[in-house]
Amino acid sequence: MKKIIKILCVLLTLAIGGCSAPSAQEKPKDSPEKPKKLSVVATIFPQYDFARQITGGLADVHMLLPPGAETHSFEPTPQDIIKIQNCDVFVYVGGDSDAWVERILASIDTSKMKVVTLMSLVDTVEEVAVEGMQEEEEEEEEGDAPEYDEHVWTSPKNAAEIVKELVGIISEKDPSNEETYRANADKYLAQLAELDETFKDIVSNSELHTLVFGDRFPFRYFADEYKLDYFAAFPGCSTEIEANPVTIGFLIRKVNEEKIPAVFHIELSNEKIANAICESTGARLLLFNSAHNLSKSDFDGGATYLDIMKQNAETLKIALEYKGSAE
Ligand SMILES: [Zn+2]
Repeated sequence: MKKIIKILCVLLTLAIGGCSAPSAQEKPKDSPEKPKKLSVVATIFPQYDFARQITGGLADVHMLLPPGAETHSFEPTPQDIIKIQNCDVFVYVGGDSDAWVERILASIDTSKMKVVTLMSLVDTVEEVAVEGMQEEEEEEEEGDAPEYDEHVWTSPKNAAEIVKELVGIISEKDPSNEETYRANADKYLAQLAELDETFKDIVSNSELHTLVFGDRFPFRYFADEYKLDYFAAFPGCSTEIEANPVTIGFLIRKVNEEKIPAVFHIELSNEKIANAICESTGARLLLFNSAHNLSKSDFDGGATYLDIMKQNAETLKIALEYKGSAE
């Protein structure tokens, strides 16, 4: 991987050096130039969508991760590195899955861009394994830094915090459009607040408060925010996909004991474990979408973080046996 990055960086230097010089000469000196749009590059979907909501078409917002791709094994292309090099604002998550980002940033000139991580904008918690969860077999070395859970955006409250900070950062880089950016952000923050109220209402008017995931669990921030208990096959960013029989057996027992009506899988999952639990218990198989990435068709259809979370609210009602709003 290090080698690949090195080669990519050489290519990048060639690409930038190779094409910028002649184009500068070709440009007639007095041509009325359109002001260049602000360029925002985001690694994955949540921050891509937040930047899109704030800028509302006034900036070029680009997502590096191809729609439908797995987030945790992403490898940038030379074009991706050029996009990062040339952008004004670069937003990534800042967790363990982003080790590749740090290596690229260390090798390019970032003096003219604003680089920001989602994890620096909110309070983070350590990734923990709850009872029954199958942890990755990693050799823990003494002095290992604690692994912080990177799925900060899964809580709408955190999403709002991130948007509040992002609008300031984007406005600083493009002050001429600040007023519009701030107005867009305010409108969006109102929708996020409404979403938060929806989840609060569901949780406070439901019989159950336990989620079961036959999958990875990237919802620590969401569960903490709404005080939900959870059981899952793997922690949030685990690369494991095959659960052992002990894990599956534990989750089946939980579903039976607590009479859980629905078992979740996450997006772009093979659904195998959740399916096995449902077959054995009669529970319903439902999607709870963590919005790491979208399928190609959802992306092309313009789906947003809010769309995804509103769908999550509907499936949550089923899983928690929502009784309806008291008001
Ligand atoms: Zn993840």
